[in-house]
Amino acid sequence: MSAGVALERLEACDLCGDRSFQPRKEWKDLLLFGPERWRLVECETCRLNFINPRPTRSAIPTFYPDDYPAHVAPATQPKSWHRVASAKDAPAPGLWNRLRLHFRQDISWYRFPRWHGDGRVLDIGCGSGGRYLDVLKGLGWTTYGVEPSQQAVTHATAKGHHAVVGSAEEQHFDDESMDVVTMWHVLEHTHSPRKALESCFRTLRPGGQLSLCVPNWNSSQAAIFGRYWWSCDAPRHLFQFTKQTLTRYLEDAGFRIRMIRTRTGATSWQRAYRGIANDLLGTRWQKDSKFLITVSDGLVAVLSAVRFFGVGAELRVIAERPA
Ligand SMILES: [Zn+2]
Repeated sequence: MSAGVALERLEACDLCGDRSFQPRKEWKDLLLFGPERWRLVECETCRLNFINPRPTRSAIPTFYPDDYPAHVAPATQPKSWHRVASAKDAPAPGLWNRLRLHFRQDISWYRFPRWHGDGRVLDIGCGSGGRYLDVLKGLGWTTYGVEPSQQAVTHATAKGHHAVVGSAEEQHFDDESMDVVTMWHVLEHTHSPRKALESCFRTLRPGGQLSLCVPNWNSSQAAIFGRYWWSCDAPRHLFQFTKQTLTRYLEDAGFRIRMIRTRTGATSWQRAYRGIANDLLGTRWQKDSKFLITVSDGLVAVLSAVRFFGVGAELRVIAERPA
């Protein structure tokens, strides 16, 4: 470990509280190329995998690139499939629209919710609100967000979202105030997924819905790409989840799981190629390639048939706070 990075050691498993861990892997930082080696350990009792030791909460921002643009981009406008999925007056989709929606939701980084309650949605890790909250606001939802970056929150606020600076573990809005809470690739970044899920549960009204996505540690991509798999993203991804550990986390927090399935988006393929290319060629390619993502969309739709075997690259969940 390099000097100067404040580290902490997790003594008890965040999921089950047990204290015996086995070392599993040692990873380099594939994004910022720092000198540290990060150790992934597995809890002997519940099989949760996590980075230990890890940067403290105050040290972690130094491991994130600051790539927010200085100007506020115009709000993203809803497309026709977003209306079919999430508009207040959207009729129940017929067979054709159900198929179309299934495909669109599956290749989209975000899953757009059906209208729920009064249409109050909280996106944790909202960034500047672009793409997700912008679209929902455009469809009549009242949009709330939490995000660690002050600059991103300033942008989100300028676009009319109720956004605050903070972490997923803290609770920023009233108990039982939200109809839908979403976390797109956030839980693996938190210092305590348990606290983050407990906070989501309290913020949702009874009958409210939590929708989230995390990398799937039991995916075929994780097996194929090894240390180049995109979620071997130490020390930003502090936890790796399987269907079993994520289910236990959600049920312990009080949620009832409505859907848990895997998907494979184009981003994960593209990042694995990037990690391999950087290692082989000595390059320091950091950004996602929109071009590679766009050209692989069709291929991904075909290859992601592996999702039917539960080994897609990501776990996507809809859970409910029981009424
Ligand atoms: Zn455990």
